[in-house]
Amino acid sequence: MRIIGMQLRLLEYPLSTPFYPSWLPGYPQTAHRVQLLTLETDEGIRGYAANVAFSQEGAGLQHLLLPFLFGRDPFQIEQVVQICRSATFLGLRLWWIEMAFWDILGKATGQPIYRLLGGYQERIKAYASTGELKSVEERLDYIAQIREMGFRAVKLRFHHMDWREDMAVARQVRAQYPEMEILVDANMGWRVAGMGDAPKWDIATALRVAEELAELGVVWLEEPLEKHDYEGYRRLREKSPVALAAGEMNQDLHEFREFLLRDALDVLQPDVSLSGGISTGKKIAGMAEAFGKQIAPHTWTNGLGLAANLQLMGACPNCTWAEFPYEPPGWDLKARDYFLTEPITIDPDGYITIPAKPGLGVEVDEDAVQHYTAT
Ligand SMILES: [Mg+2]
Repeated sequence: MRIIGMQLRLLEYPLSTPFYPSWLPGYPQTAHRVQLLTLETDEGIRGYAANVAFSQEGAGLQHLLLPFLFGRDPFQIEQVVQICRSATFLGLRLWWIEMAFWDILGKATGQPIYRLLGGYQERIKAYASTGELKSVEERLDYIAQIREMGFRAVKLRFHHMDWREDMAVARQVRAQYPEMEILVDANMGWRVAGMGDAPKWDIATALRVAEELAELGVVWLEEPLEKHDYEGYRRLREKSPVALAAGEMNQDLHEFREFLLRDALDVLQPDVSLSGGISTGKKIAGMAEAFGKQIAPHTWTNGLGLAANLQLMGACPNCTWAEFPYEPPGWDLKARDYFLTEPITIDPDGYITIPAKPGLGVEVDEDAVQHYTAT
């Protein structure tokens, strides 16, 4: 089998109401843009991959990629990993294209990817991942709603300039919902400043937050420090009374090896579309397993990115949590998964069943793709 066709499209879905991601202070997101790669084989199989797009930054990528991918045997995925690694030398983060090859491999063999990679689990516990900073009242309303959906765990964003404001929300959530499992994400790993003020924690601040969060019994504190501050994480973890998670914007094997060798994290969070593809994600999971660590892939990109990460989760014995991005009204299921035939949902008991159709487990809706293709 050979790759004989390739198409790169920019999709643009207008959000029903502006979304204010806590990790991009001052930025009102009005559309969900996605770069969608479609690969076609001489056997008529289509493989898809999707990437975050802010604007037209992917223009020209098709011309760059075509000579590398045309005619390639889609089963030789490790060669694609080498291409993606080479692209990082040019400043390009192309790991996301690798999922299209796994999609083809799954469709060619009639299996979802997670079964080809080891098939460890068919379901995984989900947490509702928030995306905005909200008032106490708004956040409690949200939790009432997600509990109706089945969730028993929530991830709160900490990104006020004064973390005590974030802590006040977390304390009220704990007081109102003593049974709820709470995770906290500070998004300091790839701090975005420029449009609005962005907080920046040092080790002492992160430790104070961790100590207060320990009183609330949180599952983990995510990204309290900069993504390459391996030594800072090591020092913080020596004293932190709560588990530490990070890695969503770290790349490739060696960056994750740094965390492991220093015993600097409890949970590694490679995202297959950002950190190294599905292949590298599985290797990182294996390294983590050898060090007695968990992985919990980051998933906040788009529906296909979520599906790809779920495939990795299904294959790993050291993965117990699935991130389910959900912050209505701006980032509802339709906004997240608009180019899939149906949105990824959770089961009434708070678990996600790993999507089990061949390949990435879900189907891309070509009608929706055409409808939302930006012109
Ligand atoms: Mg995060």
